[in-house]
Amino acid sequence: MTGHKKQQIFFRQAFKSEQLSHAYMLTGQEGIGKKIFAKAFAKGLLCPHERFFEQCDCPSCKQAENGSHPDFHVYEEKDGKWEEKSNLKIEGIRQISENAAMSAKGWRIFIIDNVHILCLADAGAASALLKTIEEPGINTVFLLITHRPDKVLSTIQSRCVNVFFDPLHDSELASVLKSKRVEPDFPLPYAAGSVSTALTLLDIDVQGLLSSLNYKNFDKLGMQILAMSDKNKFTAAVSVIQSWFLSIYKRTLNPEIAVFLQYTGAVLKNLTYNVNMQLLLLDFYIKLTNSLALAEAEK
Ligand SMILES: [Zn+2]
Repeated sequence: MTGHKKQQIFFRQAFKSEQLSHAYMLTGQEGIGKKIFAKAFAKGLLCPHERFFEQCDCPSCKQAENGSHPDFHVYEEKDGKWEEKSNLKIEGIRQISENAAMSAKGWRIFIIDNVHILCLADAGAASALLKTIEEPGINTVFLLITHRPDKVLSTIQSRCVNVFFDPLHDSELASVLKSKRVEPDFPLPYAAGSVSTALTLLDIDVQGLLSSLNYKNFDKLGMQILAMSDKNKFTAAVSVIQSWFLSIYKRTLNPEIAVFLQYTGAVLKNLTYNVNMQLLLLDFYIKLTNSLALAEAEK
């Protein structure tokens, strides 16, 4: 398994010293492999050979991989529609409670992806989850995954061991993309260590965007920006623009460019909330135009 070596050691040691907690919250930005990590750990925990984070062909690992292991339950988003398609409504949580309370011979693992959405969408389910984590069954481990821990009930948070995941290094990101047979046509640092950002960047014309980042071209750039109604694509474009301005700031230390960089940070944060895209695009376009004029003056 690529990346997150520190976290691998942390979980291996907790297992070896019989100090596994019954609930963990895996946090860190989107698209850096938290869920892949959780699944790899769960597989190792169920494996009779205790092969964590590595390839194993035993029947248990095969079952865990193809989703048929009876003691391994994953609740996740499907086709981008977590709330509609998920069975993680209150009934689902009750079922988890019943399953988790049964004493198991071996380990029993529950992974809940995007647990913050559960907290936002269904207060009943969230409190059922809290109750389940408070009174877990024997040998039961919950791995809750979120990039928005601030949206998770503090009562749930306080019962979990928080494990933070850093963005992937560029070399790690490169090897994950290679394993997916994806060839990026942009400099890897623009993806900021996130596989999902890298995949979104493939959908936008990064080279075209970079080449139109100058004051003379701002009409063309404006059209490109204002047409980005897709939140993921706009987020990826803002990341690219931010990196571009960061390189200018490093060279010039222009305080006004620093202000724009702070603004891009705030935009990226706002994009994780429900924002009015049209207003945001327009505001971004205006501020970007001003900052391009500044950048032009620094040339
Ligand atoms: Zn195995």
